[in-house]
Amino acid sequence: MDISITRVEKQGKRPEDSALGFGTIFTDHMFNMDYNPEKGWHNARIEPLHNFSISPATMTLHYGQTIFEGLKAYKTAKGEIQLFRPQENFKRLNSSARGLCIPEIDEAFALEALKELLKVEKEWIPETPGTSLYIRPTVFATDPFLGVRASHTYRYFVLLSPVGAYYAEGFNPVKILISKDHVRAVRGGVGEYKTAGNYAASLLASEKAKEEGYAQVLWLDGVEQKYIEEVGAMNIFFVINDELVTPMLNGSILPGITRNSVLQLGRKWGMKVSERKISIDELAQAHKDGSLTEAFGSGTAAVISPVGEIKYGDNIMHIGDGTPGKLAVKFNEAITNIQYGMAEDTENWIE
Ligand code: PMP
Repeated sequence: MDISITRVEKQGKRPEDSALGFGTIFTDHMFNMDYNPEKGWHNARIEPLHNFSISPATMTLHYGQTIFEGLKAYKTAKGEIQLFRPQENFKRLNSSARGLCIPEIDEAFALEALKELLKVEKEWIPETPGTSLYIRPTVFATDPFLGVRASHTYRYFVLLSPVGAYYAEGFNPVKILISKDHVRAVRGGVGEYKTAGNYAASLLASEKAKEEGYAQVLWLDGVEQKYIEEVGAMNIFFVINDELVTPMLNGSILPGITRNSVLQLGRKWGMKVSERKISIDELAQAHKDGSLTEAFGSGTAAVISPVGEIKYGDNIMHIGDGTPGKLAVKFNEAITNIQYGMAEDTENWIE
């Protein structure tokens, strides 16, 4: 499929890297493509960023049939543009598509289109270490219809946003709260897909946690509320008896690409690694007997986020000594060094 390109008349100016936050500034151009049953995916185009004009009956607005991805483009010291495992994001987008009855997108084409868009927007990729260009591929249902069924038409778009360093204020351990009242996802539901409803479902618990002074919610499973699943919009890792442990994928956990990368590196470094069920009782016991030495989240935004405190009811578990754990630091450095071209891409992760 050809990609038509319409450029803005006058390019916008990217703010200073130090002024960048997250998700408020967008680049000059976006990618759009449409779907209908007759033509399939068609009309691939890069065009000036613009607002959509949609019917108030647009199905997405009512029933949430929409999926998205989140990845980043990094600029190396030599000025090269690097993507980190983007094929995995398009694979996951298609997994989400299948889960939400949305037509799949050709993954190789989606990557090619993204690279074309990045060529047009290369001036928008910030340069300072830690900064990057956040990429948000999204598909949403566009039929103007109030009945509940899968839409017949869709829009795919890619929005780009230069973002600041996540750890502008330092790589400090965060406090997280286990929610007893709320769950994020249930067995047989849509937890393993990147779809809007999962994030809407997380808001109330997240606000309650913030009111109590906690940065994120640590989610338990939605069936027994006994097993640990994820933290905020990150996967979770523990180091127990020198073993790297993360909850096994079970249908209600988002299969993180950073999670997968941590597991791959851990195994390569010869660590004992396991993906299994971890109950809150096991965690509390490991904390009590001193075998729980580290906890950290993993995700595209932060890469690694060390956890220094977990609260479950009246039990407040302090982990480590208030500074980031050794393994959190090691994984963070190894992955970011590859992303920014400061270390050899031994795992073949860079595009
Ligand atoms: N869990 C959830 C719910 C998320 O939104 C994310 C962010 N995509 C992750 C985990 C981490 O996934 P990734 O490492 O692919 O960013």
